[in-house]
Amino acid sequence: MSDTYETSELEAYLDEALPADDMAAIEEALRTSDSLREQLKVVVGRRDAGIHTIGAIWRRHRLSCPQRTELGSYLMGILDGDQSDYIRFHLEVARCRVCTASVADLEAAQAASDSEEVTGRRKKYFQSSVGHLPK
Ligand SMILES: [Zn+2]
Repeated sequence: MSDTYETSELEAYLDEALPADDMAAIEEALRTSDSLREQLKVVVGRRDAGIHTIGAIWRRHRLSCPQRTELGSYLMGILDGDQSDYIRFHLEVARCRVCTASVADLEAAQAASDSEEVTGRRKKYFQSSVGHLPK
């Protein structure tokens, strides 16, 4: 089992905001890993100093889910750093089911329109080459 965790995961651990399995896994890892304990100490220190990650703020204030259009922009990679960090956290650490489903849906729609575009281009190429075939 891996004993490396993202700071955001440790933050969520401290807030007891992870699924039970993950909470147990981190507790277990903390018992055996000096480096993870060090890492947790740093996270706790930062919190005591009043430095909060977007994830911690999200949990504290229960900010709402991003809009579907924001999720779309996130997938296209056109959001700025803070916004995309927030959405990544929302999806990967908070594991919001609603947004995860939305993203899967958006990805499927994107994949479908990509393949339509390719088919369309092929058709156009075929039509334009028909006239140039030797008689
Ligand atoms: Zn959500």
